[in-house]
Amino acid sequence: MPASSPQQITLLGATGSIGANTLDVVSRHPERYSVFALTAHREAARLAELCLRFSPRYAVMADVDAAKELRGLLQAGRCATTVLEGKQALCDVACAPETDVVMAAIVGAAGLEPTLAAVTAGKKVLLANKEALVMSGQLFMDAVQKSGCCLYPIDSEHNAVFQSLPWNFQRCPEAGGVRRILLTASGGPFRNTPPEKLETVTPEEACAHPVWSMGRKISVDSATMMNKGLEVIEAHWLFGVPPGQIEVVIHPQGIVHSMVDYIDGSVLAQLGNPDMRIPIANALAWPERIDSGVDALDLFDIAMLNFERPDFGRFPCLPLAYQALEVGGSTPAALNAANEEAVEAFLEGRLGFCRIADVIAATLERAGWEGAETLEAVLEVDARARGFAREEIRKRGAA
Ligand code: NAD
Ligand code: MG
Repeated sequence: MPASSPQQITLLGATGSIGANTLDVVSRHPERYSVFALTAHREAARLAELCLRFSPRYAVMADVDAAKELRGLLQAGRCATTVLEGKQALCDVACAPETDVVMAAIVGAAGLEPTLAAVTAGKKVLLANKEALVMSGQLFMDAVQKSGCCLYPIDSEHNAVFQSLPWNFQRCPEAGGVRRILLTASGGPFRNTPPEKLETVTPEEACAHPVWSMGRKISVDSATMMNKGLEVIEAHWLFGVPPGQIEVVIHPQGIVHSMVDYIDGSVLAQLGNPDMRIPIANALAWPERIDSGVDALDLFDIAMLNFERPDFGRFPCLPLAYQALEVGGSTPAALNAANEEAVEAFLEGRLGFCRIADVIAATLERAGWEGAETLEAVLEVDARARGFAREEIRKRGAA
């Protein structure tokens, strides 16, 4: 048990799937971790429950009306948590002097500014919000380098790679003897669906992931395999590995969370049950190990591990993401923006599943290339690409 006082955690995106898993791990180790701030978008009732349970110093609602509702609920529950509101407050709690650790678990581009604020302030940052890194790659990693912040991947694949790399790995594959990163992917719910049936799949079918239980946006990303595309870009920035040395491997069981292939022929992998509490506990306690609440892996029960090559024709979002990474500059930000708009339209029944990739491809064609070296430039690219994507969505309409 650590002798020092508990680390203060700011949890961005507390009401989501990663938020719930983080609080589960944290609540197992009150001597190590204490909750300083919890944030959410609009889910006032859920955040109120969490405030009553974890008594954070601050609760932030991005939405102003939801903040009012939360204040009312907390007063009624005699909870001393101070409620703040709006985007700036998300950044403020992320870089507050009392915050030791920031879990970046907001979904999508909305997480970019608070996550960057935490990085710039030199906090220990646990990164689940892959979209933030995809949008701002170089800018984000420069900020990490400049502040000396410790950045830990929460995405299970990247956490597996992190665990399989040498402890002193410096984002230089040659120096580390790394030949390839092998990112595993379950293949999602439509791995074996006949292509003609993909045209009419519903949001409910897309969100019914065979292995992981997650938020709706990442679930659709898993069904299109854009999630793996975003993860290829994420791996490039986190580990400094060129796109040609990052390979996607379909592994339906979701037990091998990813691998590192070394030049001597050794392949190191991290295995475990598919439960996000494993990477969360790993990142929280690194280099120590703590109980995550996850059952021991039963290899006899699993019995078989299968690996397949991904089908780029069936999953066109995957090659689109590789291309965006190769082109670089503003293109990954435009890819992410178009994807967020298309996924939202699909979830709301305004766009067919197979049109998601079409909207992204058309948006990238219109968006062009630029440097995107500042936060303002990245946000501008994001806004412009969303405008193009909305037009492309309207053109294509519902399925
Ligand atoms: P989720 O939809 O379950 O939760 C999202 C959280 O973000 C909620 O707390 C919500 O209130 C908050 N949020 C949404 N929009 C916001 C806005 N505009 N402003 C402020 N807050 C906002 O999502 P999730 O599944 O927990 O995923 C969170 C992030 O973690 C995503 O980037 C996802 O790709 C990544 N991730 C998730 C998993 C998983 O197992 N769920 C695995 C790997 C990576
Ligand atoms: Mg992942």
